[in-house]
Amino acid sequence: GAKNDGRGNARRFEADMGATARARRDIELHLHEAWEQRQFRVVYQPIFEATSGRLAGFEALLRWHHPTRGEVPPERFIPVVEESGLILKVGNWILNEACRAAAAWPDPLFISVNVSPAQFRGGHTYQQVGDALAASGLVPSRLELEITESLLLKADTSVRTALDQFRAEGIILALDDFGTGYSSLRYLQILNISRLKIDQSFIRHVVDDRHTQAIVKAILSLAQALELKTTAEGIENEAQLDFLKREGCTHLQGYLLGPPMSEEEACRLVRDRLP
Ligand code: C2E
Ligand code: MG
Ligand code: MG
Ligand code: MG
Repeated sequence: GAKNDGRGNARRFEADMGATARARRDIELHLHEAWEQRQFRVVYQPIFEATSGRLAGFEALLRWHHPTRGEVPPERFIPVVEESGLILKVGNWILNEACRAAAAWPDPLFISVNVSPAQFRGGHTYQQVGDALAASGLVPSRLELEITESLLLKADTSVRTALDQFRAEGIILALDDFGTGYSSLRYLQILNISRLKIDQSFIRHVVDDRHTQAIVKAILSLAQALELKTTAEGIENEAQLDFLKREGCTHLQGYLLGPPMSEEEACRLVRDRLP
């Protein structure tokens, strides 16, 4: 009908784009203030070992609490932070916060920190990680860095060198959101990756969609053959949990097992879980 012609859709699309661009600009404008006024904080989501059920570590996740707007959804501001120069400061701060928090937990609990490709571009990542470890006293083997396939796509020699240095120090490298990017399986071999994090978009449909199920099984068997650890993200129900345990996924993460929490809550969980 006349109301649904192509031009109407195009206009609506432009209007939506305008709104998205405005929202983004709005976030950009407030980011520096957020940083100056310490509106960011780090939360910690527990990760469990599949076979024993034991607490294995936590993933550090960035949060932004605005004084009047409240919690800003991470998917709205984190991409903006990553594209602005602020990621260098914020990323380094998260690294230091996370290592400091983890140093208070008993060995061998690990901390997993997301590192964005932009942080590698500066060329100081290796130095910054070394400084965070030295300042906190955390041993390198308890630090895991989560990198994405987009980083590997552009993996020039400086990125490769940094990743090799991390591995030489005993730092664990995990490939985040595995299966959603332009995965080249060859990178797994070249880059000394120790862990695959299976993206939550797969986990969401792992019980009800047989194609998704086939993909997850294939990832898990590939990981087993290459002796890589696996963390399934976004586990929300028992059926997903049962499937992943049965198929040999080594580590589990999701709201069903534990939400992202404050440093204090994380410490409490660590204490409650001690043998
Ligand atoms: P990610 O690294 O894949 O992190 C996992 C995301 O899944 C987190 O979203 C977490 O809160 C969410 N999640 C965990 N369990 C469940 C579940 O059971 N169901 C569902 N629906 N979601 C679950 P979050 O915190 O919103 O972060 C989104 C993304 O933003 C992260 O995805 C990561 O790529 C990025 N990010 C978060 N913190 C940082 C950071 O400190 N630095 C950088 N560079 N990126 C970060
Ligand atoms: Mg992650
Ligand atoms: Mg990530
Ligand atoms: Mg992920």
